[in-house]
Order: sequence, then C-alpha cells, then structure tokens
Amino acid sequence: CCLIDMDNFTQYNLSFGKHVGDRILATIGQRINAAIDGDLKVYRGIGDNFLILSTAPVDGENRENENIINTLEWEIHKAIVTPIAVDDLIHSVTAAISSCRLEASKASYEKVNGVLSFGKKRAKKQGPGSVLTLDNAAFEDYNRYNTITHSFQRALQNNEFYLMLQPQFNASNEVIGSEALIRWEHPELGMVSPVEFIPVAEESDTIIDIGNWVINEACRLLHECEQLGKHTRIAVNISGRHIVRADFAETITQLIEKWGLAPDTLMLEITETTLVSSIDLVRERMEKLGELGFSFSIDDFGTGYSSLSYLKELPISELKIDRYFVDEINFHDDEVPIVNSIIDLAHALGVSSVAEGIENEFQRKYLRQRGCEYFQGYFYSRPLPEKAWRDFIMN
Ligand code: C2E
Ligand code: CA
Ligand code: CA
Ligand code: CA
Repeated sequence: CCLIDMDNFTQYNLSFGKHVGDRILATIGQRINAAIDGDLKVYRGIGDNFLILSTAPVDGENRENENIINTLEWEIHKAIVTPIAVDDLIHSVTAAISSCRLEASKASYEKVNGVLSFGKKRAKKQGPGSVLTLDNAAFEDYNRYNTITHSFQRALQNNEFYLMLQPQFNASNEVIGSEALIRWEHPELGMVSPVEFIPVAEESDTIIDIGNWVINEACRLLHECEQLGKHTRIAVNISGRHIVRADFAETITQLIEKWGLAPDTLMLEITETTLVSSIDLVRERMEKLGELGFSFSIDDFGTGYSSLSYLKELPISELKIDRYFVDEINFHDDEVPIVNSIIDLAHALGVSSVAEGIENEFQRKYLRQRGCEYFQGYFYSRPLPEKAWRDFIMN
C-alpha cells in the first residue's frame, strides 16, 4: 500500500472550482492506473490523496520488492507531472509521493483506515441519515482527534491540565461549595474544551487517569482550605466508565485519606445518563460509596430517563438542573414546566435541587420562588482559577 498526497491540491478547487479539481484528480487516477501493472490498483483517497493497493503480498525486507517500488514511484511521478488539459486549460500538476517504502506506507494506510473509522463513528453519532464525507475537513478533524488521543499521557506528566472552580450558593447568597471543572492548555492546540476532550478520554481508560488526577487536585485544594481553617466542599464530575470500576471506592478513599479529608468534603457528580446506562452496576457502586460516606449529585437531570423507584433507594443528595433548562427561564414564558417538575421531584425524594447556568436576575428569582435550594452560574460567579477561587471563598 502507498499513499500519494497531491501537494496543496486544494489550490485548484479554490482558483478553478471543485469540478475542475475533481476532473484533474480523475485524470491523474486514470494515468496512474495505466502506468502501473496488474497487481496494483489505484483508488481515489480522501481529498487530494490517492491510495495504491497491492493485491499480491508484499514484503518490506525484500530487495526485489524495493526495486518494484522504486520503479513504481518513478512511473507515478511521470504520470502526474505531465500536464493535464481540463476545460481548455492546461494544468501542470505536482504531486508529493509521500513514500512508497513499506514502513512509511503502513503508517499511511493506517491513517486512511483511521480516518475512515473516525468518520464512521462521527456519522453514527450524528444519527441516522447523516452523510459520511471524507474530505479535507474530515482529515483535519481526524488529525486533531489523533493529536488529542496521543497527548493525554504527556499532558498528565507535564501538568497541562488544571482546575477551575465555580462557587455554588444558597438562597442567602452564601457559598455552599464549588464545582471543579477541568481545563487543558495544549502546547500545540491551545485551550481544548472538556466538551471536546472528555468524550475522547472516555473511549479508553485514560478517563480513569484524568478522573483520579481531578479528585487528587480537588483534595489538595480542600486540604489547603482546611489548613487555613476553612471547611468547604468540592463537586467533581465522575465518568460512568470510572465509577463502575471495581477499585473506584478504594482509590477515592485512599485519596481523601492521603489528604486527611472526610468523604463529605467531596460531592460526586454523575450524569443521569450514566445512571440509566448500566444501572445495576452503577447502583451497586453508589450504594457502597454511600455506606462509606460519599454523596451524589445527579448532573444534567432531565436529559435521561431515570425512574422514581430506584432514585429513592440511592445515596443521592441533590438533583442538578441542566443549564439547558435554566436557559428556558426567560421573560417570555411565565412557567417553565421541566424546571418546575425537577424541583418538585427533588423535594418528593427528600433531596435538594441545584440549578446551573444561571445568567441573570430573572432566572435566579424564578428558581428561588419555585423552591430551588442551590445556585450556580455566571450571574453568581464564573469558574475561577485556583488563587482567585481561594480568595473568593475565604471571605
Ligand atoms: P457540566 O458538568 O454540566 O458543567 C457545567 C458547564 O457549564 C461548565 O462548562 C461551566 O463552565 C458552564 N457554565 C457554568 N455557569 C454557566 C453560565 O452561567 N452560563 C453558561 N453558558 N455556562 C456556564 P465546562 O467547564 O466547559 O464543562 C463542560 C462539561 O465538561 C461539563 O459539563 C462536564 O460534563 C465536562 N467536564 C468538565 N470538567 C470535567 C471533569 O473534571 N471530569 C469530567 N468527567 N467531565 C468534566
Ligand atoms: Ca495534501
Ligand atoms: Ca457537572
Ligand atoms: Ca450540566
């Protein structure tokens, strides 16, 4: 297998339009096919790439094969550099043949396969009827995804992650705790949002390492507060893949003991979706953690489909109203049924309700009148870096 990358071919699409670019690429494909022999076949790859596959087994160590490959490289080159006429215009096309050598070609082949499976996964996520387009943009997305996947371990080692803390308030405007939100300052990509990288980390056990890192950081901050005589609480977001692990309870217990903390200084946020996805296992883990003194906040409540019967049995201390629902509270509608029913459900279960994403006075007033207990959002405070957060809560 080898991959031919048409150097900066996009310039044709830009200056002459996509149809010209496509016809040039088709012509190149035909020429390469005519130039190479029967065991090899050329395929239009992604964007400006061509893939040449051999139907015969090829061995990289073999001298004879290397000769074939060298010849092939030359034939392809000739086929491409010869000018091509399209729409009465003569275009001279230059191509970069990335490498016909097998080690490099294997990497190229893996890349094409990678982008294909990435594209399929993405199309699946978008739902039925979505179209899988393997264009240059898809290639770029895949490259970014790949960069992210491969830089997690280095990021953990080099302290590229840090926490922001967003204070949470009661109806008397007193701080009752804070939510820890992870940030990533990537050396090449700049700031990468957790909305982008957490789902990628959740595809592998990387999310366990990141989750443990977050818990440890939260504990460190809590320990510092305790030393300054301030008792407070931090809510951490726990992924489903993390909580179902058999050693989760042990790990988290070890971490709080290491920092000399009690379990009630942490609040474990799990999403309602996690709760309903593998309910028996999650329930078992939650019960055990509840016995150890930990409590749970159900995040993004209202987006999953949990049933009242099991919510009642679990060590849940609050339901968190997603900011998507808080957003619906505006001057135009006088009642917001979903928000109302989450608050009522929380009270029926004997737990608190917490609203996130409060951005204005109107939303705060509405939630207070409806009996919501705790409040979080830009209106109260943005997520703060460590030092600013400590100053904020010490007052
Ligand atoms: P989430 O847990 O629902 O977090 C709330 C998000 O709302 C945060 O975004 C927060 O910065 C943002 N937010 C808070 N107040 C307001 C407001 O008034 N208006 C608006 N528009 N937004 C507000 P962020 O930090 O980008 O986090 C997004 C998501 O990433 C989180 O959603 C959570 O699902 C995930 N995440 C963040 N940190 C962690 C982590 O340490 N571990 C895991 N597993 N997931 C995390
Ligand atoms: Ca290219
Ligand atoms: Ca959360
Ligand atoms: Ca949320």
